Amino acid sequence: MSQELLERYQQIVGPDVIDHLKQLAYHLKDAKVVHINSTRYGGGVAEILHSMVPLMQALGLDVQWETISGEEAFFHVTKNMHNALQGHPVEFTEASINTYEENNRKEYERLKPLLEEADFVFIHDPQPAFLITLCPERKGKWVWRCHIDLSRPYRPVWRYLRNIVVHYNASIFSMPDFTQPLPHPQYIIPPSIDPLTEKNMELPEEEIKGVFSRFGLDPNKPLVLQISRFDRFKDPMGVIRAGLMAMKFTPLQLVYAGGGAADDPEGELIYHEVLAAAKGHPDIHVLMLPPDAHRTVNALQRAADVVLQKSLREGFGLTVTEALWKAKPVIGGNTGGIRLQVVNHHTGFLVHTPEGAALRIRYLLFYADKRLEMGRKAHQFVKENFLITRHLRDYLSLMLALISGNGERVEVEARS
Ligand code: UDP
Repeated sequence: MSQELLERYQQIVGPDVIDHLKQLAYHLKDAKVVHINSTRYGGGVAEILHSMVPLMQALGLDVQWETISGEEAFFHVTKNMHNALQGHPVEFTEASINTYEENNRKEYERLKPLLEEADFVFIHDPQPAFLITLCPERKGKWVWRCHIDLSRPYRPVWRYLRNIVVHYNASIFSMPDFTQPLPHPQYIIPPSIDPLTEKNMELPEEEIKGVFSRFGLDPNKPLVLQISRFDRFKDPMGVIRAGLMAMKFTPLQLVYAGGGAADDPEGELIYHEVLAAAKGHPDIHVLMLPPDAHRTVNALQRAADVVLQKSLREGFGLTVTEALWKAKPVIGGNTGGIRLQVVNHHTGFLVHTPEGAALRIRYLLFYADKRLEMGRKAHQFVKENFLITRHLRDYLSLMLALISGNGERVEVEARS
């Protein structure tokens, strides 16, 4: 089974990439690895773990993925923390801190045996970060994996979280800009997509075309798409404005398709704001998708002519990678990890405003040859830089670096 899985990836990335992974994993055989985040569905972190965990297992590591659960109040606090860490001032009270720590304490009771025994613990984002302070008997290496843009955090919240993060052996950020002064090694590992998932695999042509009738779209009009949670950092209102502006000059239809993540209580509110903005515009379609609509997201991305990701802040932007992989040029907000992926004028365009986005929409819809050429480059760029196999290689290297720092010697060389 595991060999079969590796072979399926090999068909896409080639044998050298898979051999390299096996060489690295050889030194980590049976290592107990635990990943912890706060949701199994919705959002980029869960997407990555769904692919990363079986691949690590296929390479011989003993991996478990746990999520911490919590009441609404807990997720309200952590959503506030998330916003604050991305630069949005919030009210961060003693009561919020208590809610946060108490929930972590409660979850720790359940996870304690696993966490104490693990050789490597990857804690994703702030929600479960406090667990480390509750685990003095830990024997493994703990890594804080930060998926968000920490370049300009709201200080009171970062000061609090930093006092927790300093306990980790290392931290991982998606880009150099996101790092903060910390007393341990910081690694830069951009995220990735999995080409084998329902979200990214090839689809039959009729399934792609099927989205037009399914969602009441016009098959003869260019399709401009943004797929994102209903979150203010994704700038849904800016997307609608850009669509409306471009529409004045070029026939097109705009789809904003999103869903809510289980750990995001703000989504409902923003969904209604977006619906209100789209009301009365027949060429603007706002779709609320269930969290498991992976094939639908895939089909929409493949059906689109141009993909937008007009975020105001973005950790990485998996939706960008997904669209580029499907050979679509992306018009992206000039922020965070979008800058790593959208190479201006090559794989898409970086924009700052709805006006800028509208201009680039018109350009790409007008010059079909440019659009297709940029799409081809986009696909190749993802193949070389942003597939799960590269991501996994980085994680394995990091784990080896952490144990070799302990005095162990690791030699990675070709084995027959
Ligand atoms: N996604 C989805 N349905 C939606 C909205 C998003 O399946 O309605 C997926 C999207 O395809 C991507 C992930 O959720 O794989 C979002 O990751 P990204 O890094 O773009 O943003 P995040 O939500 O983590 O801020």
